[in-house]
Amino acid sequence: MAKFGKIQEMIKEKNIQPSDCEYHTQRKLDKTGKIRVLVYEGIAHVEYICPKCGHYEYTTKEWKRPFSIKCSNCGERLKVQKLRYLVKKEQKEAEGK
Ligand SMILES: [Zn+2]
Repeated sequence: MAKFGKIQEMIKEKNIQPSDCEYHTQRKLDKTGKIRVLVYEGIAHVEYICPKCGHYEYTTKEWKRPFSIKCSNCGERLKVQKLRYLVKKEQKEAEGK
């Protein structure tokens, strides 16, 4: 089972505060995958589990929108789209609205 905690470790290690981050999200991709993106000092730190092949990876990439990353194992394109809208929607769902 892939460990999903690299970004969390980095936050702890560098003592990154929410206000230091340009963007931070964690979301599910289909039923089996997930992706976490933390943008810090212009660099996107990405951690994902590919929904297609189950591959786990932590990597960094230049931050730009719309943001997407390719699974290094199967080539599936993992997209993080409509960021703000989805974040709001997820918050609402979390609050039960
Ligand atoms: Zn894959």
